[in-house]
Amino acid sequence: MATNREFHARSLKDPEGFWAEEARRIDWHKPFGKVLEYTNPPFSKWFVGGETNLCYNAVDRHVKERGDQDALVWISTEVHQKRAFTYGELYAEVNRFAAVLRDLGVGKGDRVLIYMPMTPEAVFAMLATVRLGAIHSVVFGGFAAASLAARIDDARPKVMITSDAGMRMGKVIALKPLVDESMRLAKHPPRHVVVVDRGIDQKMTLTQGRDIDYAQAREKQRGVEVPVTWLESNEPSYILYTSGTTGKPKGVQRDTGGYAVALAASMRHIFCSNPGEAYFCTSDIGWVVGHSYIVYGPLINGSTTIMYEGVPMRPDAGIWWKIVQDYKVTSMFSSPTAIRVLKKQDPAWMKKYDTSTLRYLYLAGEPLDEPTARWVSESLGAQIVDNYWQTESGWPILTACPGVEDTPRKFGSPSFAAYGYRLKLKHEETGKEVATGEKGVLCIAPPLPPGAMSTIWGDDARFVSTYFKSFADEMVYTTFDWATRDADGYYFVLGRTDDVINVAGHRLGTREIEEAVQAHANVAEVAVVGVADSLKGQVPMAFAVVKDSARIATPELAAAHEKEIMATVDKELGAIGRPSRVCFVTALPKTRSGKLLRRSIQAICEGRDPGDLTTIEDPGALEQIRAALRG
Ligand code: AMP
Repeated sequence: MATNREFHARSLKDPEGFWAEEARRIDWHKPFGKVLEYTNPPFSKWFVGGETNLCYNAVDRHVKERGDQDALVWISTEVHQKRAFTYGELYAEVNRFAAVLRDLGVGKGDRVLIYMPMTPEAVFAMLATVRLGAIHSVVFGGFAAASLAARIDDARPKVMITSDAGMRMGKVIALKPLVDESMRLAKHPPRHVVVVDRGIDQKMTLTQGRDIDYAQAREKQRGVEVPVTWLESNEPSYILYTSGTTGKPKGVQRDTGGYAVALAASMRHIFCSNPGEAYFCTSDIGWVVGHSYIVYGPLINGSTTIMYEGVPMRPDAGIWWKIVQDYKVTSMFSSPTAIRVLKKQDPAWMKKYDTSTLRYLYLAGEPLDEPTARWVSESLGAQIVDNYWQTESGWPILTACPGVEDTPRKFGSPSFAAYGYRLKLKHEETGKEVATGEKGVLCIAPPLPPGAMSTIWGDDARFVSTYFKSFADEMVYTTFDWATRDADGYYFVLGRTDDVINVAGHRLGTREIEEAVQAHANVAEVAVVGVADSLKGQVPMAFAVVKDSARIATPELAAAHEKEIMATVDKELGAIGRPSRVCFVTALPKTRSGKLLRRSIQAICEGRDPGDLTTIEDPGALEQIRAALRG
């Protein structure tokens, strides 16, 4: 057995040999020729010429060996239901869904936009899409109609799939009206919308000729089998939009073969799930963690994946641990925010159920603070694995690999670079690698490993300029995170270098929220910053200059106006982007060249020193921020 250090060293010294071995973990319809083609940096092609399919690897290949084993168990504490599907049943459902899509003309390379709550049908829809060689774009159910329309116009889907509604904390979240509105707003709306009616929103209506009731369409596809469309390894499997520094979300494009191999390898080396064991990831299919570790990773591995619709506190704070007990979960994946929420509850909930099967709890998406890591580790008795990654990487960049070697953890650190990643910590200005303990920008020397994004959908130039142009001395992929590395090689992630903020593990661009605020007719200018929050990590705060100040003339009017602006954000972007406060000022702090001093505003909000202000145009503007916070 190699040590983790040896394993990592080998992945970098002989990437082709290393990944050729890992590629045996999946089934190939046609073997690949070259393992890595890197003739057009920074674009890398993995397993060139090989043909495979994500759905085949996640479903078909398991039917013979484990057809009667549960593949997907769905538990909803919102609608009080449980549904389980064996690999055999999953195969049947996915084929029926694929047949419905095929009848609507969906084929290789077409896009299918999925805007759904956490239901088994969402998983069937994803698998059915890739089965046909089509490309899905799942949009998180918390995004509003305008955001949805922007994604429609970028991805240009042939078909959209939705449901009448989702539920959160017992409240109905209607989705179909948002879909209808997005269809009106989009310049290139799809021809058809497939609607999985859950019977939750009784007011839901279908548009004749455009909307298809899934239950009826499914009825016609009893026992139908749809052949897998084999894709060359580098052909796209999906697009997933993520926030950046501009208001326009980026469509992160993923390949097929590299992604399947990367996930299969990670299930073994990082997530330590054996085929047949239950694996529980509490994320949402709208995020990258859901794509990789609710759907594709565990299914490719032959695990039983547990999908949960609900919150960690309902019906009580023991629900997740009850699930661990009932299904004998061995590996679980969640977020630091969820654990911080549970930490506030009676610790007895952690002890009420038998969680002895749980070997590892993986936490990712945002910094895992040391007290939370220590608390959950002690209360649960499982090993905690903090892992750091991004929508772009598709799987962990920094992590311990307990499947390779049980290296000791340091709370507050996601351990080391994962195999396949050549990491560098570079000085922001000089580009030189920083010394031990010094803060640097976390970068990856290309080629990016299998599973990482291949490009930005429809915009290769933006892929290169966004990620690979931060340093003049060498072309490296910038993660936009600050980090340090200690003498033992452990990394500590300090936060983003750009204007991306992290709210409860959800990534949002300050620019994106600013645009949503500005959609209110009375807002002339706005600055949004992320402010530290003990529960959610960060929350957005907005400082707005209004056109008509009569509307904020009294504290009552200002409070009403603040609510109105928040509602505009809900409508434009979705409640996930809603600022915790909208403060009114008459000027925003800017440099003389007109750049917003977001970092100084953020520092003041967090009670820190605003830093170097020699280039500020109007120092009074900062005073206004202070006054607004006091008021
Ligand atoms: P997303 O693409 O939405 O997954 O967001 C990725 C960003 O979340 C990263 O660039 C980090 O800023 C942050 N992040 C993810 N995982 C961690 C972690 N384990 N520790 C610290 N920050 C993290």
